[in-house]
Amino acid sequence: MTVPAPDVDAALAGRPALLADACQRALRYLEDLAERRVAPAPEAVAALGRLDFALPAPGLAAPEVLSMLDEFGSPATVASGGPRYFGFVTGGALPVAQAAAWLIAAWDQNAALSVMSPAAALLDAVALRWVGELLGLPAGTGGCFVTGATMANATCLAAARDAVLTRHGWDAAGQGLVGAPPVTVVVGAQAHATVRKALGLVGLGRDRARVLPVDDQGRVLPRSLPPVNGPALVCLQAGNVNSGVSDPFAPLITWAHDHGAWVHVDGAFGLWAAAAPATAGQVTGIAEADSWATDAHKWLNTTYDCGIALVRDPAALQSAMAAPAAYLPGAGRQAMHFAPQSSQRARGAEVWAVLATLGRDGVADLVDRTCRLARRFADGMREAGYGVLNDVVLNQVIVDFGDPARTDAVIAAVQEDGTCWCGPTTWGHRKAMRVSVSCWNTTEDDIDRSVAAIRSVSGKGSTRW
Ligand SMILES: *Cc1c(COP(=O)(O)O)cnc(C)c1O
Repeated sequence: MTVPAPDVDAALAGRPALLADACQRALRYLEDLAERRVAPAPEAVAALGRLDFALPAPGLAAPEVLSMLDEFGSPATVASGGPRYFGFVTGGALPVAQAAAWLIAAWDQNAALSVMSPAAALLDAVALRWVGELLGLPAGTGGCFVTGATMANATCLAAARDAVLTRHGWDAAGQGLVGAPPVTVVVGAQAHATVRKALGLVGLGRDRARVLPVDDQGRVLPRSLPPVNGPALVCLQAGNVNSGVSDPFAPLITWAHDHGAWVHVDGAFGLWAAAAPATAGQVTGIAEADSWATDAHKWLNTTYDCGIALVRDPAALQSAMAAPAAYLPGAGRQAMHFAPQSSQRARGAEVWAVLATLGRDGVADLVDRTCRLARRFADGMREAGYGVLNDVVLNQVIVDFGDPARTDAVIAAVQEDGTCWCGPTTWGHRKAMRVSVSCWNTTEDDIDRSVAAIRSVSGKGSTRW
């Protein structure tokens, strides 16, 4: 039987032009990212329908497909990589992150095993070590790259679950939770939604955790802590997703460890406070925890998707994540045996490129600068007569425009105006607007233009840029 040859020659011949075309289109896209309206125009979103057709039997030509992607896809994106996107906690990819991501796409490496990519394996290990150093975590901390902080939380909590049960004589990795001693889980009242989701994923339940009360900024109160015994884990937080505050780690971790509990910290963005002298004091004591979840695609401004799970005892991570098989090498540091996923893109290579480029000083500056810009945003809102509901200690600002209907209306008008983009939240039972300054390319001028636009659409001043 003969296997008909695919048209490899034609594909190879077309590849340089195809990639050059993609590069040109990408550069054109990025060129006006800072000046286009942040949310896409409704017509652009409607035109996306042009990409929704029946799967063609004979495929289309690749240049045509790329052209359609750009013509209909690009205008319907959100300019979240631009300087005036303040929604959720969203970084914009640094140029070196994008360039490294392109090169890594050309490599097309599977970073699961060192034999599959010595380059990815080394860069993964170096990037994890650098991240640990930047964040002041203990030397020898283990870790892995995952899709985001959600999966980083789940990964750490799986390691935590197995470790605390092992200490109490139960082989959770082997036997699961059926018949296991109950695991006490403690979370702060303002734990991120994904911590609860991660607890559900690892079989500890979204809703059975004991909840510790918090102060008016969202910090766990380090007093009247409950007695905890048996296998236990305590989830703390660096960087409340609304207010930006971090829990008081030193007393909470001491209490948890006195009770034999594992301490996990969700620090999707807030962990990076440790990397800048001006904010490091907000996370004092964090290095005493047992595991940490964070993101590179938020404050470190890598491309999506890139989360990082860090575990003090690499053996605990490995015992929860290893997938031994005769054909899969196990010796040395094999990424797949420290991570929930096996096949994976070389996320560590991009993080390596970003950290090598920024250096310690660049990361500190990124954190420091965005925090100062958040304060400028808050000042602008206060000057306009609006309430800022949080102490602006990090890169997050919560703005109150009065009654809930008015706040909703202002947020809708801000999004529709397109100068900047901010989303809603609820803070202390009040409807409010959330602002997160997380992007490397935001300047004072961007803050001022955004403040002016918000004032204008909310009827407090007609200054338009
Ligand atoms: C964003 C965020 C998460 C989830 O991160 P993903 O990268 O979206 O999975 C978890 N915790 C906190 C505090 C966050 O801000």
